Amino acid sequence: MIYTMIKRPLLPSLFALLMLCAPTALADSGPIIWQKGKAIQGGLMILKLAPQISARLDDKPLPQSPQNIISFGFHRDDEATVTLSLQQDNGSLTTHLYTPHIRSYQTQSISGLPGKYVSPPDEVLARIARDAEAVKRARALTSYQDAFAHEGFLWPANGTVTGVYGSQRILNGKPRAPHYGIDIAAPRGTPVIAPADGEITLADDLYYTGGTLIIDHGLGISSTMLHLDTLSVTVGDSVSAGERIGTVGSSGRSTGPHLDWRLNWYQKRLDPQYALDLLPANASPTK
Ligand SMILES: [Zn+2]
Repeated sequence: MIYTMIKRPLLPSLFALLMLCAPTALADSGPIIWQKGKAIQGGLMILKLAPQISARLDDKPLPQSPQNIISFGFHRDDEATVTLSLQQDNGSLTTHLYTPHIRSYQTQSISGLPGKYVSPPDEVLARIARDAEAVKRARALTSYQDAFAHEGFLWPANGTVTGVYGSQRILNGKPRAPHYGIDIAAPRGTPVIAPADGEITLADDLYYTGGTLIIDHGLGISSTMLHLDTLSVTVGDSVSAGERIGTVGSSGRSTGPHLDWRLNWYQKRLDPQYALDLLPANASPTK
């Protein structure tokens, strides 16, 4: 607008500098500085907000790190659009809609299995209920770390991927719970590392999943590591991405040595593959 008014020879370089600065200095960049991830079933979303914004998802407050990172995700079968509301301190409110893209998953029917593999014996039902409660509590915790948002996720073990997120088996005609992790088959004793920084919130031997660890990565995002042979960390330990946390095993109800890595946003199960894809450098299988 003032461009045509300024014609003096000494001013152009200063003027050019002002023009360069203008898009960031003058334009309102909006409440979202960047976002990673995709709205898809099993998908993980990570957003960096401008300062002084409070975020709600479907009217529930979202935890925010000191660097203004928020995160949320979609469960295997989520279909509903979610509404992210961003309220700035000056009162202005924006809403952002995310509709998960629908996926299809592998199913496999297996019949003629002996009954003991299909239903657990009565005497362990109380233990199974206690285990489930402990896992649920650990996944309900909130901390405000956000290293995963900047550094992404590492493959937690060297091995061969033998199971993927979302697949479902039908045993003796009964649909079982879908598979929520990535299975990485590897010899017993293969090191398992933390896929991202975090704090250990569960380290125990559980009926179904054997040697089990939960790592809280912050903002409701956690990893679950199942069927471990040994655990080298305990509840309350802080771990760094790449740090050894245990070894691959076949503990619990498992048919052979493998790591089952699950990623959670609170009680929702996310697809670890999408989390790996957020940082392409780390996204290649190790074998
Ligand atoms: Zn598995």
